Amino acid sequence: MKALEVEKLTKIYGDHLKAVDDVSFSVDSGDFFALLGPNGAGKSTMIGIITHLIVKTAGTVSIFGHDIDENPGLAKQYIGVAPQEFNFNIFEKVFNVLIYQAGYYGIARTAAKQKAEKLLRQLDLWDKRNVIVKELSGGMKRKLMIARALIHNPKLLILDEPTSGVDVETRREMWVFLSELNKSGTTIILTTHYLEEAETLCQKIVIINQGKIVENTTLKNLLAKLKKEIFLIDLKHPVDTIELPNQFKFTKLDDRTISFEVSKDQNLASVFEYLNKNNIHILSLRNKSNRLEEFFIELTSKK
Ligand code: ADP
Repeated sequence: MKALEVEKLTKIYGDHLKAVDDVSFSVDSGDFFALLGPNGAGKSTMIGIITHLIVKTAGTVSIFGHDIDENPGLAKQYIGVAPQEFNFNIFEKVFNVLIYQAGYYGIARTAAKQKAEKLLRQLDLWDKRNVIVKELSGGMKRKLMIARALIHNPKLLILDEPTSGVDVETRREMWVFLSELNKSGTTIILTTHYLEEAETLCQKIVIINQGKIVENTTLKNLLAKLKKEIFLIDLKHPVDTIELPNQFKFTKLDDRTISFEVSKDQNLASVFEYLNKNNIHILSLRNKSNRLEEFFIELTSKK
């Protein structure tokens, strides 16, 4: 079952600004799907169309098999969306934000209260239930946006930059929450600038640039395409006496840390062989860079 099917979608702003240019892709039910692209790529426009807030120029969009033009109410029923911009009444109490949203969906008051409490507890906001939105931190506001998007149990959750401006700890907390939500059956589509986020959470990835899809693949395939990986080695002994060979682009980062690159046609084992032969003892090995990020930069800088 497809949670979302987008076919030949186009959005032209004004006379000729093609924000979305003949885009087709689909999202399977149960996917955790990333929509990536630089600023101005057309991501928010696409989400606006899918959630029926922006009028498209051409193409079709179906949610769980239903065309949004034929049945616009379905988007409301099936989709929960947390947009990029905060759009709360900032003088509303946190708990009431959820209760009023539930009212908008016709959810009975007792059920709404139960659901609101559950979400606020899951997102660690229960202590803040009587605080007005204005007094929440940026990260708490982001979490409240997610809670509000989920109040009517949508089958498809769409998050536009959900962790933008959020500190690392809260971001990780949100990742755990979203992973569990996805595992329990909610399809999630995410746009993000934090490519580590897509790499951590998502199985499927569409990259758009200038309104067009430039990559539509699985995270696994995408990573397999990457030409090189950079590794960091922590050493047992200081590195100052070591002669580093050229072929792996060994670089001294500090006394006990070196980095090296391995391209697809090179073998990691030969690096270890070399280090061993030279009595260089390794304490640990880790990936340096975000590989997706490298690929993303390469891809979008072509234009
Ligand atoms: P993203 O979300 O990937 O940053 P957007 O969908 O916001 O990209 O924008 C895509 C393009 O459409 C950009 O060139 C942007 O300036 C333009 N655009 C977005 N919204 C409007 C609008 N309401 N009117 C005119 N142009 C717009």
